[in-house]
Amino acid sequence: MSGLDDLYKEVILDHYRNPRNAGELPSPPARRAEGVNPLCGDQITLTVDVNDNVITDLKIASTGCSISQSSASLMTQAVKGKTIPEADALMAEFKQMLGVEVEDGSDLSSNSEPDIRKLGDLVALHGVVQFPVRIKCATLGWNTLHEALANSGEVATTE
Ligand code: ZN
Repeated sequence: MSGLDDLYKEVILDHYRNPRNAGELPSPPARRAEGVNPLCGDQITLTVDVNDNVITDLKIASTGCSISQSSASLMTQAVKGKTIPEADALMAEFKQMLGVEVEDGSDLSSNSEPDIRKLGDLVALHGVVQFPVRIKCATLGWNTLHEALANSGEVATTE
């Protein structure tokens, strides 16, 4: 199956070299969060616009390894236009593909095969499962998105 591996590698390198949705949205109104993966030195600043519970736009400014940057880029494509629950479900699916325990208590089926129809190009990162130290690189963008969405909801923060 080296042909498939090569295809996945190409997807990852393409997103690393040409990150989608790079930059920052004006914040506010965009929600904003920063993520760091000290194990690898990956850093990410994520800004996201939410209207009526739908992720209408998001941008990422990141530095770090090819896995963290390509994963974040793939994520922006995957969640743009989705509702927050849909994005959460996709994150759970993605983490499950990488063998990461999903902490929010959602009860997913024990099906361990990645669902290609749901995950689309995100499946390209499946190979990361073989490199446990890189898994945090692959999930950094998702965790930062989760934080941005959770941080600044309708309830105003009190510093
Ligand atoms: Zn990394």
